[in-house]
Amino acid sequence: MSAPFINIHTHQFEENNAAFFSLPNIILGKDKLSTLPSSVGIHPQYISDCWQKQLDELHHAAHLPQVIAIGECGLDKLSATDWQLQIQVFERQIAIANKVQKPLIIHCVRAYQECIKVLKKEKVKVPVIFHGFNKHLQLAQQLLHQGYYLSLDPILLKGKKDDLITNLPLAYLFLETDGKPIKITDVYTYFCEVRKIGLAELKELVGSNFKKVFKTFV
Ligand SMILES: [Zn+2]
Repeated sequence: MSAPFINIHTHQFEENNAAFFSLPNIILGKDKLSTLPSSVGIHPQYISDCWQKQLDELHHAAHLPQVIAIGECGLDKLSATDWQLQIQVFERQIAIANKVQKPLIIHCVRAYQECIKVLKKEKVKVPVIFHGFNKHLQLAQQLLHQGYYLSLDPILLKGKKDDLITNLPLAYLFLETDGKPIKITDVYTYFCEVRKIGLAELKELVGSNFKKVFKTFV
């Protein structure tokens, strides 16, 4: 059977079946936990004054079997949250991911070098996926060189990232819709057109990346 369309980062719960698998993201302090497969983390924008309590909640949630990844977490230079606090909460989430051995989904805005630095300092031991990537090929290559995975921002549908689509190594690729009102099938289709590969081939590739990161197939 062929691999499903995989949407690695969304904020909507959709029913998963043999043809589609999506991984909704739950932001602690904003969203409720779910019994369905999901990623759970503390988004830098939603770090509250009670952040210790948020970390305790994450620590508990991280052990739940349906929580298959930690995140989105990371650093955001456009967020009003205190920068040192962002770093501290990000470090703690890396430690939690290391402890429960679940992949990390990274939210990063204008702070790529800082994110890499924190990930190295905390000695990340789990697969890392930078979600919503929409930067240039050189930065993509720097992240891939560290062994990190990239999930492309659906902004690529606007035609401004064709260079990235054409040249990105596919062994580290994921696709997503994030919070945008678009279909994951349209993201895959556009990628295939620009990259000049077949849809079945792309689905297989992303499926095998998923298997590598999550050690399973859904
Ligand atoms: Zn998101």
